[in-house]
Amino acid sequence: MLKVLKFGGTSMADAKQFAKVKAIVESDPSRRVVVVSAAGKRFSEDHKITDLLLLCHAHVKYGVSAESVFDMISQRYVEIRNDCGLSTDIESELQKIKEKLLNGISKDELVSRGEYLSARLMADYLGFEFIDSAHWVRFKLDGTIDTEKSYELLRELADGRKVVIPGFYGAMPNGSIRIMSRGGSDITGALAAAALDADVYENWTDVSGILMADPRIVDNPEPIKYITYDELRELSHMGAQVLHEGTIFPVRQKNIPLNIRNTNAPEDPGSLIMENCPDDDNDKQFITGITGKKNFSIITVAKSGMSSEVGFLRKVLEVFEKYNVSVEYVPSGIDSVSVVVASKGVSDCLYAIMGDLQKNVKPDSINVTENIAIVAVVGRKMAYKPGMSGRLFAALGESKINIRMISQSCEELNIIAGVSNDDFEKAVQVLYSSFVK
Ligand code: ADP
Ligand code: ASP
Ligand code: MG
Repeated sequence: MLKVLKFGGTSMADAKQFAKVKAIVESDPSRRVVVVSAAGKRFSEDHKITDLLLLCHAHVKYGVSAESVFDMISQRYVEIRNDCGLSTDIESELQKIKEKLLNGISKDELVSRGEYLSARLMADYLGFEFIDSAHWVRFKLDGTIDTEKSYELLRELADGRKVVIPGFYGAMPNGSIRIMSRGGSDITGALAAAALDADVYENWTDVSGILMADPRIVDNPEPIKYITYDELRELSHMGAQVLHEGTIFPVRQKNIPLNIRNTNAPEDPGSLIMENCPDDDNDKQFITGITGKKNFSIITVAKSGMSSEVGFLRKVLEVFEKYNVSVEYVPSGIDSVSVVVASKGVSDCLYAIMGDLQKNVKPDSINVTENIAIVAVVGRKMAYKPGMSGRLFAALGESKINIRMISQSCEELNIIAGVSNDDFEKAVQVLYSSFVK
């Protein structure tokens, strides 16, 4: 049995959090591979080390002294080392980085040092070996990760060992360090789990799993017990961002379940994400979660007889492609089609798009509705349950929330409703109390 664990920034923030990590790792002998983030925030006004490193780089770039920012970073790690009672020579590591900083270190290498230093300390604290991600996470020249090569390298370095690995970075074919996009340590954990054929990938953070709704909108939402990869994609695409998007692919490919856990409440079971979830008779929830986003625009093109005009939809969508606008949903009727896009994406080109639509498809009318929020109810069990959309309509209607658009995916994994931006929070609350018992 092998468990690969990833601890996020808040789990690495100070010595108190380090102690929780150690207790979690040591409570189970199969927890042998630990991936860590840079130290994150200890309290809400605190700084993440990654942000401070980015700030350091900006100072150097504009010829301003980075000394004071670098000192803040150094202090955080020296303090963790001291408070954990370790003898790691973190000063020499910091000195090396500082020298490179003065001699033109690359931005990626500098920003990666948060994870590097965290992992050095955690390896000493746990008595595990340190493996540098520059030695196994291999990027291709196009910036994507060479998974097969990376898996092979990690297997050579780590198979059967107890190791700590820094998240968030790897190396280009020429050996130079490259970082992933923000939140990327989740991906490193997934890659390590896939490389070593782990039985489970545990992602330890500061919430007891993925919550059924955004806690800033709904009071104390329930954590989701079981969720499929497909449902998670729907939820995170529409706003519930707990994991980096790139986390799913490596573990899904190897059929490794992903368990989101809370470092501050290790007794909570968290959320289990897998390909197919078990039928849980105790689970009375019909839906898995409710999410959504504000600021969409709906462009509705109407033309009588449109549905019998071959190529009509293509000609409409071609216009959006020409302006590089990504299309979220395309609900359609017999004589009209609506194109739902993020308002940000069309802010500079809306009139040009309308002009081109006029030329391309000669419609009877084009209407634009702005300030729309999309609310999505997601759930694999909705497919077997008649009357779900009716319930959604009724709940919103009773609360006098006007529905501007509705769409359901063919697999019935989600129902999407467009409401006005001003009604967004209320719509999520109403749907939560209507669907979640
Ligand atoms: P880490 O540093 O451990 O990677 P992140 O900050 O990246 O942690 O992700 C965890 C955070 O995601 C939570 O603290 C929470 O604020 C946020 N979050 C957003 N939507 C949800 C949701 N639906 N369920 C749980 N957490 C959510
Ligand atoms: N430290 C990086 C960030 O803040 C990566 C991570 O934490 O996953 O984005
Ligand atoms: Mg994260």
